[in-house]
Amino acid sequence: MEDGEDETLEEKDSDSRDEILRSLQCFLLLAGSLCSLPQKTADKRKKEMAKQKASPETRRQKLEGWNAKTLLIQNLSHRVPQHELKEVFKDAFQIRLVSKDGMSKRIAYVDFKSQADAERALDEKRGTKIGGLAVVLGHVEEKSQGREGRVGKRKLEQESHTFQEKWERAYFFVEVKNVPTCLICKQSVSVSKDLDLRRHYKTNHSRNDGYTEKMRDKKLNKLKKRLKFQHDLLLNVNKINDAAMKCSYMLSEKIARASKPFTDGEFIKECLLSAAEIMCPEQRQAFANLRLSGNIVSQRVDSRAVNLQDKLQEKAKSFVAFSIAAHEGADGANAPQLAVFIHGVDGTFDVTEELLDMVPMTGATSGNDFLVCVEESLKKFNVDWSQLVSVNTDGNSALVGVEQLVTKLKSKVSGLCKDMELKSMHGLILQESLCAKKLKMDHVMDIVIHSITWIQSHGSDHRKFSALFSELDAQYGSLSCSMGHKWLSRGMVLRWFFKLLEEIDFFMSSKGKSVPQLTSKDWVKDLAFLVDIMTYLNTLDISLQRRPQVVTQMYDSICSFLRKLCLWETH
Ligand SMILES: [Zn+2]
Repeated sequence: MEDGEDETLEEKDSDSRDEILRSLQCFLLLAGSLCSLPQKTADKRKKEMAKQKASPETRRQKLEGWNAKTLLIQNLSHRVPQHELKEVFKDAFQIRLVSKDGMSKRIAYVDFKSQADAERALDEKRGTKIGGLAVVLGHVEEKSQGREGRVGKRKLEQESHTFQEKWERAYFFVEVKNVPTCLICKQSVSVSKDLDLRRHYKTNHSRNDGYTEKMRDKKLNKLKKRLKFQHDLLLNVNKINDAAMKCSYMLSEKIARASKPFTDGEFIKECLLSAAEIMCPEQRQAFANLRLSGNIVSQRVDSRAVNLQDKLQEKAKSFVAFSIAAHEGADGANAPQLAVFIHGVDGTFDVTEELLDMVPMTGATSGNDFLVCVEESLKKFNVDWSQLVSVNTDGNSALVGVEQLVTKLKSKVSGLCKDMELKSMHGLILQESLCAKKLKMDHVMDIVIHSITWIQSHGSDHRKFSALFSELDAQYGSLSCSMGHKWLSRGMVLRWFFKLLEEIDFFMSSKGKSVPQLTSKDWVKDLAFLVDIMTYLNTLDISLQRRPQVVTQMYDSICSFLRKLCLWETH
């Protein structure tokens, strides 16, 4: 029997249908017998008439029966074709798309032959995507029931738009981020309405109705715990991922700042993992999530650079004045390079200093070449050339190109703005090398340089001097070529020299090369003075290089240094 699975709810209905079927069978069997035909059809008709005239009670039951076999599909896309619905609901015998004034209402009724078919479809097709949207399935029976007490209920609904705790136990719903969410299937309902939650519960989870109060409480607790666990897990995973992302950016920046190859990222990760294994094995996975491959590091650095450039472009708009600094340096392979910096100040005295470009100085290095490079670098930032107030060069001024660049820039600015005169400076900090010449300490420095050179060539493997030489290496690389003009860095070397004075004297005299000055009281005094003054100059140097600071701050540092000098003089 087709309707055998249908139970009590529609006993009456199925009975009458069985009768129709039976009569139809009879009809077929007796098709040939003309005499009995009118009688049979008359019987059938009579029964149908009787059915239509049935009491309101049975009619309602019939209606409910039909509704139990009908599903309501919601959240359909606007132009879903009927055949697509038919493909999803193969068991359905009728699909009715609902529209009003030619506009789809985005719902449809699907009629099934039996309640069992409808139930099966409800279970199987829930959340199915049709036309890209996950449809919402439900029975329509509650609608007819709801109609009865609508007026009374509406009042209740309005009161109950906030989530009510009693629903937790009644419908296994909890509130997650202000949205009522089913604990059993994790579906959420858009509005906190008793009716909506009840409908969801009745359609999807009514089998829990049979539970005793105690069992319900137990189940509710279990479900809540499970939800909390999943929530915490998700939160934790997000936290770990966020941290890993942050670290990845931070380490990439460190790699770039230290001019290390991007592929070092993998090595850093390896180190971190090994350290984590010993120090916090339970956190190992967090470190394993770090993405630091060469490609990733390069991407991160690029995105930072783009970000920086965007920021600088934005900032450059607010500059009221800016200066350019050209610094001669060398890259990792010791190839000479010219670094171009921009130094801008806005109306609030906020100073921005950024490296614009590195220009390799191979081949042609005329002033024109440099000018083109500088102009190219500045083009990206739309700076107003008439706001250029000074140009600063630094390093070894042996480069004619840099000098020419200054001249070219000067003529460019004066061309733009007749009363403006571009100020130029050669290494503000290097001005001190001039002071050094005034100190008249050559008789000390000559001996020091002479002694160090001699020791280097006669047993630089001496254990005591290793610190001295490593300092020398760090400062100069090769002593002879640069010791002359990098006066400031002498501070550390001098200090080492002073500390090791006795050993140096002993070492040199033992090798037959005694230097009388090393034991002369006056000379040692001068050396000590030089060590002291160099230490102070070093401190001043560092304070001048601190950034960001404006020239008045630097002026303050110099003034206070001068005051101190006067103070020392009186002692
Ligand atoms: Zn549910």
